[in-house]
Amino acid sequence: MDTHVLDALASGGFEEVVALHDARSGLRAFLAVHDTSAGPALGGIRRWSYRDEEEALRDVLRLARAMTHKCVLAGLPAGGAKLVVLERTEVDWAAAYRHVGRVVARMGGRFYTGPDVGTGARELGWVAERTEYVTRPDESGPGELPESTAAGVFHGMAAALEHLDGEVDWARRRVVVQGLGAVGSRLARSLVEAGATVLASDVNAATAQRVAGELELELVDPSRELDVECDVFAPCALGGILHSISVPRLRCRVVAGGANNVLAREAHGDDLHRRGVLYAPDFVINSGALIRGAHFHLEGRRLSVDEIGARIRGVLSELLEAAAAAGRPPARFAFVEAERRLEARRAAARDDA
Ligand code: NAD
Repeated sequence: MDTHVLDALASGGFEEVVALHDARSGLRAFLAVHDTSAGPALGGIRRWSYRDEEEALRDVLRLARAMTHKCVLAGLPAGGAKLVVLERTEVDWAAAYRHVGRVVARMGGRFYTGPDVGTGARELGWVAERTEYVTRPDESGPGELPESTAAGVFHGMAAALEHLDGEVDWARRRVVVQGLGAVGSRLARSLVEAGATVLASDVNAATAQRVAGELELELVDPSRELDVECDVFAPCALGGILHSISVPRLRCRVVAGGANNVLAREAHGDDLHRRGVLYAPDFVINSGALIRGAHFHLEGRRLSVDEIGARIRGVLSELLEAAAAAGRPPARFAFVEAERRLEARRAAARDDA
């Protein structure tokens, strides 16, 4: 196991991985710092029921590296990190998150943390009792994180449509939004306001009814949304939803949504490409909250959601054009481009040292 961990660190370009155990609270966690060559490493705290610690370790490595790719492509002077906490019974969670806060404080600003699956306002409040290097959930923090993500997805979707047709023209567009939570509901609102026809699904019937009522949306059965003919399918629920069974069902021209890791495997992005479906890479289009948080922590500035949307639109347009010119699927192209820019950044940091 040791040898494998060290091999994974070396081949993935990681700086450090720390295993955390706190006997007092029962906390068990992994912290991975992928890159600090251009600035601090940013990454939220994911709390999840992992099958075993190997799965947790794999997840923390994958997520930390993905955060670096997001930062590099968004042009942020920051890198990626992640903290994963193993969900277990008999953990004193307040004490556990305070312990995390102490660990983050000891890193002295090399690592800034924030929300992720399983870690919301209450947990971040506990972390913030012990460190300043955390995205505070109250008015002293960056605020408007889901708003920023939704704005990025809305404007990124516009970039994808423009790339295909030379215009956006929302009035003639049909968009299916999967998941009407914090991001999906805001995205659906922007689309309705822009004049698009929006269909939506949510496995939580109460959420679906409430948002559909507010926005006058047509609801689709959550098991059928992939089969609906539309311009854009916008996954805003879970990751891993596009795989060998679901991809052939799609009846859209574009996939552009807020969810992380939409492709179960990279090869499914190639499959979309072969089928003529334009895939807006999730780690580009959903980086709005990261951009908002990074500017707040690094410069003390709150970018407006419009600025964030415009920025993501520009970055995505450029990437889609370059990928098309190279004849490569956008997700593959974006990954390789992120690695290329990261290597250039690391080489510059080595030259400066
Ligand atoms: P959320 O929990 O507020 O909303 C998710 C919604 O999806 C819920 O209403 C849930 O009932 C619904 N859902 C779950 N499974 C579904 C399914 N199979 N079909 C239809 N609906 C389903 O989460 P969120 O903050 O809106 O985030 C949505 C996605 O975007 C997640 O993948 C998240 O990791 C990603 N993301 C969020 C942010 C952010 O700023 N919140 C930033 C980057 C990425």
